[in-house]
Amino acid sequence: MNNLTISPIPAFSDNYIWLIQSGGSAYVVDPGEAEPVLNALEHHGLALEGILVTHHHYDHTGAVDALKQATGCGVSGPPDSPAGPYDHIVHEGDIVDVLGVDFEVISVPGHTLDHIAYFSGAENALFCGDTLFVGGCGRVFEGSNEQMRASLAKLAALPAGSRVFCAHEYTLANLQFALRVEPENRALQAAIHHCAEKRDKGEPTVPSTLADELSYNPFLRWDSPEIRQTLSNKGLLEQDSDDGVFAAAREWKNQG
Ligand SMILES: [Zn+2]
Repeated sequence: MNNLTISPIPAFSDNYIWLIQSGGSAYVVDPGEAEPVLNALEHHGLALEGILVTHHHYDHTGAVDALKQATGCGVSGPPDSPAGPYDHIVHEGDIVDVLGVDFEVISVPGHTLDHIAYFSGAENALFCGDTLFVGGCGRVFEGSNEQMRASLAKLAALPAGSRVFCAHEYTLANLQFALRVEPENRALQAAIHHCAEKRDKGEPTVPSTLADELSYNPFLRWDSPEIRQTLSNKGLLEQDSDDGVFAAAREWKNQG
């Protein structure tokens, strides 16, 4: 039984700001825009007690100052962050109390160097920002592909039932790419069908679970023989290793 209610607040064209609530209190994760958050707080009659930041990009932090001013809430975020400093600087292994529930901080550099994730085993909840997406992963802007794969491997090792609360609705495009990389994957074919139905109804495809992601996300499936074969056939596999598979898939995806 979960103590926290977690729901998406859509922002910009495809961001999700995650609203965490318990009783009349709330946290939000990665608020890029203030207005939808303030509207949600008012609509549900909630007091904002804190903000969790995963990384410095503007679409995740743009509303931090405005929400702090409006509510007086505290902000937790990573060290050495271009958008910081935050009220509570949190490092790998630190525990953040979110409305009475412990969340562990996991350092996941790659998309940005300051990127962290927040994980609660009790709530089966992972807030992973732009590191792991449903069916995909973030672009590697600041770190290396090796760093990004190591970060994804850390997340993949969490309990399979963990719900993946990522920060964007990129699912259908991600899964279409995944199908080019691993066309025979039955779990992937089923996920495309299932997620397309959800989007047709205007529903979010997020969260998935880590078990789902391990079954169809090509950026966690560097040991899939079919993926290796596809990348090799296309002449993209420069190095036949886990890092080589990840890098080749990531480069291919970057090309669109
Ligand atoms: Zn980002």
